[in-house]
Amino acid sequence: MGLRTRKYIFVVGGVLSGVGKGVTTSSIGAILQSRGFSVTAVKIDPYINVDAGTMNPTEHGEVFVLNDGYETDQDMGNYERFLNISLPRDNYMTTGSVYLSVIEKERNLKYKGKCVEVVPHIPLEIIERIKKASEKADADITTVEVGGTVGEYQNILFLEAARMMELQNPDDVAFVMVSYLPVPGNLGEMKTKPTQYAVRTLNSTGIQPNIIVARSATPLDNIRKEKIGMFCNIAKESVISAPDVESIYDVPLNFEKDKLSDILLSSLKLKPKKPTDMKEWKSFVAKTKEPRKEVNIAIVGKYFNIGDFTLTDAYISVIEAIKYSAYSLGAKPKIHWLSAEDYEGVNGKKKLAGLKKYDGVLIPGGFGSRGIEGKLAAIRYVRENKIPYLGLCYGMQLAVVEYARNVLGWSDANTTEIDGKTAHPVIDIMPEQKEKMAKSDYGGTMRLGAYPAILSKGTIAREAYGKDEISERHRHRYEVNPDYIAELEKAGFVFSGKSPDGILMEIAELPHDAHPFFLGTQFHPEFHTRPLSPHPLFTEFVRAAMGSRENK
Ligand code: GLN
Repeated sequence: MGLRTRKYIFVVGGVLSGVGKGVTTSSIGAILQSRGFSVTAVKIDPYINVDAGTMNPTEHGEVFVLNDGYETDQDMGNYERFLNISLPRDNYMTTGSVYLSVIEKERNLKYKGKCVEVVPHIPLEIIERIKKASEKADADITTVEVGGTVGEYQNILFLEAARMMELQNPDDVAFVMVSYLPVPGNLGEMKTKPTQYAVRTLNSTGIQPNIIVARSATPLDNIRKEKIGMFCNIAKESVISAPDVESIYDVPLNFEKDKLSDILLSSLKLKPKKPTDMKEWKSFVAKTKEPRKEVNIAIVGKYFNIGDFTLTDAYISVIEAIKYSAYSLGAKPKIHWLSAEDYEGVNGKKKLAGLKKYDGVLIPGGFGSRGIEGKLAAIRYVRENKIPYLGLCYGMQLAVVEYARNVLGWSDANTTEIDGKTAHPVIDIMPEQKEKMAKSDYGGTMRLGAYPAILSKGTIAREAYGKDEISERHRHRYEVNPDYIAELEKAGFVFSGKSPDGILMEIAELPHDAHPFFLGTQFHPEFHTRPLSPHPLFTEFVRAAMGSRENK
């Protein structure tokens, strides 16, 4: 394994952030896979947070959880979805995590008495990590996305690491710069100068891009390609046109129109093992475009009053999961964002009937007390009015609380996350987590990552998955309180998925004769859904929603 030549593609941003570096990196990976190479993907985030676990999703987007429980940036989700692989923690690093290991090594005398310096020790640590990720995945090619844009202080040591890697093995490292070409309204003309400056800034770190992915509202013309080529010291064929697209899944196919994989492979001195075909990908993309029936899914949650951009970022895996399942069933999903707080109080009650408009209602994961009573009211409404319901994590816990209150009649039933004094703590924290919380030790203290669950025969969950044992990713502190399970089950609630020791409740559902589809998961199925293999529970939910539409 050690003798094999491994190749690395660094993807850096120029001009401005938020123009699709993550999707570019994911797409590059997907295309190279289709050319017959094994690919893994590394994400570098320049912030000091050691992982993404303590970051607010409204500021940084969704916290994506890996199988091994590492809490990362949402780009890791994009990689997993585009590449149809699961990534380990080795593939994600932040400035904080890099410094933490260098400092730990220093304390453990690993540097053998040397003066430990920012340069070279930080870049060397970064290089070690990138190589380790590549080796662990046994990848032919590793994409490495460097967060931020060139010219800022924050990512400079990561660029230095990349430069050092190229110096050691010039044929094994390629650089892609994702740039942006604005069209100022008063000029109506696409401008290349910001890209030229960005490339010069990158040059000042000792790096010359092999490829420039030129993001813009419209496709690049030949003149712009020539100009960028000329002033950025690059062949015009290596300037890839990347116009805005309807769906991010068009991006890999667009890249291939400009022969991106051929150019990348020749920069890396690799011969393609296969011609590009991307057959499965093309058929998935075709499904996203066919005219189809609509299915209206309402998401009831709390981070919704802050503008569309943040919203889709904070729930990206849930949105994608709904889409894949809908596309696989020939439907076009329409997602509606409803704020839970709207269903609170006297006025809120009147609004509940508005939920009838939707074919299905989903409550995603969440923390804290805001909007809880509204969510509980919405769950009661969809349960009683037989509207298909999918609850994810908090959405499952609250379905248990709602059932305890309104079916078992324990009106004070609650999760102890909201009410520590309730006489019916149907959702409670497990003893190990209690200890950690007492010490305010919040970072990484949740039940995190993939755990197995056993499904009961004859249940909706068992039928959907088509197998007895599953593995799904978690991110929560609270669990269904074992003391109340017997009574809940006696009242008709079904725990169809449990931990192998039978102690933790993983899936709750109502049987088909009681409700067309009412199911909640303690885990986050959205982290396991892929365009080419949609998640069975999302698919059953969307199928039920389509059915409820036909019955209307
Ligand atoms: N707040 C709940 C818990 O910590 C649910 C978490 C979630 O939805 N991810 O258990």
